[in-house]
Amino acid sequence: MIRDSASSSAEDEPETTITVALGERSYPIVIGEDLISATGRWISATVPNARCAIVSDKTVAALHLAPLKASLDEAKLYLGEAIVTPGEASKSFPVLATLSERLLELGVERGDCVVAFGGGVVGDLAGFAASILRRGVRLVQIPTTLLAQVDSSVGGKTGIDMPQGKNLIGAFYQPALVLADTNVLDTLTPRDFRCGYAEVAKYGLLGDAEFFAWLEQDWSDIFTGLGGARRRAIETSCRAKGAVVAEDEREESGARALLNLGHTFGHALEAYAGYSDRLLHGEAIAIGMRLAFTFSFEQGLCPADDAARVKRHFEAVGLPTKIADLLGEIPTAEQLLRLMAQDKKVKGGKLVLILVRGVGAAFVEPDIDPARLTQFLEKECKGR
Ligand code: NAD
Repeated sequence: MIRDSASSSAEDEPETTITVALGERSYPIVIGEDLISATGRWISATVPNARCAIVSDKTVAALHLAPLKASLDEAKLYLGEAIVTPGEASKSFPVLATLSERLLELGVERGDCVVAFGGGVVGDLAGFAASILRRGVRLVQIPTTLLAQVDSSVGGKTGIDMPQGKNLIGAFYQPALVLADTNVLDTLTPRDFRCGYAEVAKYGLLGDAEFFAWLEQDWSDIFTGLGGARRRAIETSCRAKGAVVAEDEREESGARALLNLGHTFGHALEAYAGYSDRLLHGEAIAIGMRLAFTFSFEQGLCPADDAARVKRHFEAVGLPTKIADLLGEIPTAEQLLRLMAQDKKVKGGKLVLILVRGVGAAFVEPDIDPARLTQFLEKECKGR
């Protein structure tokens, strides 16, 4: 499913290219240092003659826009930029409308390119704009958060939020190229870095026990950027995500559902916290994954030691693991269950959860006993 142009280790190649194999919609994910200043060259090579309109947010633009703009200028590809307000609130119809107008004003034509330069918010918003502008213009993702590099920029899910819930309006729209420059991550806040790390750990927990064991040992090098650890973590995550996407692009066969490990619990917690700074997405997912492991253990599916390892590791990294870690008031089991019932994996009113047989062994469980789940959440919501 996935072909790698660089099979050697991260240290001895300037960059690694992983191909997401989707037939005529296949695309490369390029991972390495200082890629932004070479963007013009990468885009010319991948999407020849496409002029580029950059979409970014104010924070990312202030820190990193200059070298990107210079590189596109030098390659004579630069059309202009549209800068949105940072934060989830920008994934909305009003912002999409303003952005679309701006992209049209900049003269983006059918063969041109929208360059999504930011975290998951910018990637989802700009990706959706690219999918509908002139019925679809080219898209290049240049993710600038760890979460976006290992997750949201790969796989083609784009969209905006609605009052009824997150990501309810959107499209599957694959990029033509993903450029993951590991250096830009140095300016992330520790909290945002940790949130991305939760998604990195997810790949180990759902299907790669060896990767998780390596993370347990070397996680601090990923945070400091020492040696090739950060790049190895991003490469392994992108390979895992790319393989799942190649197998189940539109979440039809079930393979892609495994990527939702921890997400049913996590999304409910995020919704309860009002998608605010009280609990960021990666933090919610960390709590969700710990809950999935503990619940699996209590159902006799997973060894106690594996559930304990997940909790221990997230605590070591500084990620929350308990519902009680939520800032402010915490939900009741009833409130959480009501929010979990909104999950997109609910089928015929029945909740489907991703559970585990151990570290690296997630599976889809369509037959959840509601009484046991309620009992479990009642205990967890008491904060133990
Ligand atoms: P984000 O885009 O809000 O970025 C977090 C913060 O970091 C923002 O304030 C941003 O301005 C700042 N930032 C970004 N890059 C920076 C850098 N290099 N240095 C300093 N600050 C920087 O959040 P996120 O965590 O990247 O993404 C979350 C979003 O991704 C959510 O909307 C979620 O729904 C979406 N998501 C989408 C997918 C998908 O498959 N499409 C998958 C997972 C998450």
